[in-house]
Amino acid sequence: MLIFELMKNQNDIAVYLNQHGIKKTAFRVELLDLFFSNSSLTQEEIKEQIKETKNKVTIYRALEAFEKKGIIHKVPDINNVMRYALCQVGCCSEEAHTHNHIHFICKSCKSTYCIEEVKIPNINLPEGYQKEGVRLTVEGVCPRC
Ligand SMILES: [Zn+2]
Ligand SMILES: [Zn+2]
Ligand SMILES: [Zn+2]
Repeated sequence: MLIFELMKNQNDIAVYLNQHGIKKTAFRVELLDLFFSNSSLTQEEIKEQIKETKNKVTIYRALEAFEKKGIIHKVPDINNVMRYALCQVGCCSEEAHTHNHIHFICKSCKSTYCIEEVKIPNINLPEGYQKEGVRLTVEGVCPRC
């Protein structure tokens, strides 16, 4: 997450949106800003934190666009509620999300963290099984708790 320390002001966030082909609006800048200060977010958490009142559909559409353009990706939650987290800078694009890191769910604060340092090992399946994706989630207690 250290890379994101460099991107603290609104101007940088607007540039980042622009680089990913997303038109900047005050709402989208605020939304992306939220991701820079949270390890992961649910739609509910976003709705609570956003200053401008936005309905669920608007938030959902913005999240969908961010995901499609390689800015955020879906991460698992302790209760199987969909959360979203930032992709590493330069890692993903409109064509594809390329990360294969594991996710860590803290049982205490219920946060999901992207653990970029740990890659998902190669999984060999028996003949006849076609692999399309692998998700690896580790549960435990995070350094903050
Ligand atoms: Zn990604
Ligand atoms: Zn925690
Ligand atoms: Zn992740």
